[in-house]
Amino acid sequence: MSAVRTVLGDVSAGELGVCDAHDHLFFASPRLPGEELRAAAAARAELAAFRELGGGTVVQWTPYGLGRRAADLPALSRETGVHVVAATGLHQDVHYDEGTLAALRDRAAEVFVAELTRGIGTSGVRAGLIKVAGGFHALDAHARWTMSAAAEAHRATGAPIAVHLELGTGAMDVLELLCGELGVPPHRVVLGHLNRSPDPAAHRQAAGSGCYLAFDGPSRAHHATDWRMPDAVRDLAEAGHGDQLLLGGDTTTAAARSVNGGPGMPYLLRRVAPRLALAVGEELVRRVLTENPARAFAVQWR
Ligand SMILES: [Zn+2]
Repeated sequence: MSAVRTVLGDVSAGELGVCDAHDHLFFASPRLPGEELRAAAAARAELAAFRELGGGTVVQWTPYGLGRRAADLPALSRETGVHVVAATGLHQDVHYDEGTLAALRDRAAEVFVAELTRGIGTSGVRAGLIKVAGGFHALDAHARWTMSAAAEAHRATGAPIAVHLELGTGAMDVLELLCGELGVPPHRVVLGHLNRSPDPAAHRQAAGSGCYLAFDGPSRAHHATDWRMPDAVRDLAEAGHGDQLLLGGDTTTAAARSVNGGPGMPYLLRRVAPRLALAVGEELVRRVLTENPARAFAVQWR
């Protein structure tokens, strides 16, 4: 039976409810000094606020080495009643010191598989997806080896692969590598951040592969393109790709949390969903928040 691998164990896809398909409870990168998401109390408050508005599941895309705090996730999930899915994988090389990457150079796939099947560190908490990252309109050597490792871990486990597209670009490069060269089935790939490069033709081209497209935000850094999201979603739905769309909040800084006066996780349900319903209707928004993530993240685990 296929199941979504949450921090409290495998659950059937039908149990997810309303899903924030791309977000962060914890995240710490040297690239964002002073903006780390480290506070468990704030993470709990975000989950509770999301739950209050009908939220059922949060998929955290924080990968290896960026402060996932895996051991804290089960209690947060249990206390708030929100399913949480954790990630393995690696972000762009700028987020790591050389020693961390050197230590993983020849064993990244092995580490990803261990985190998906045995647990992250000593926490016993298993990851439910593999996160990797592309570059700006291209894939560098780091993106290639991490995606190769992700594909290998996918083959071993069945886990979905979620991809950070740098400023929303490089979708076709990612798909050609992951699905073309490395043979990952497109329906096991989720592309994130396409809203940051709102080119409708490029979106349709990527969707044509059969992969999932996760639209995320809003964010202060990407305000210039965030408001185009409803049009992009409508365009894809009209082209027949409504079943491949996902939505997430992608809270990456402490200032963006609702407990600190930002939009945070509840904003997805408080404002994004009703705004999107104006563009595509409530029925599609319901499917995008429930049925699509259930399919995207449910896996026949091996
Ligand atoms: Zn993210």
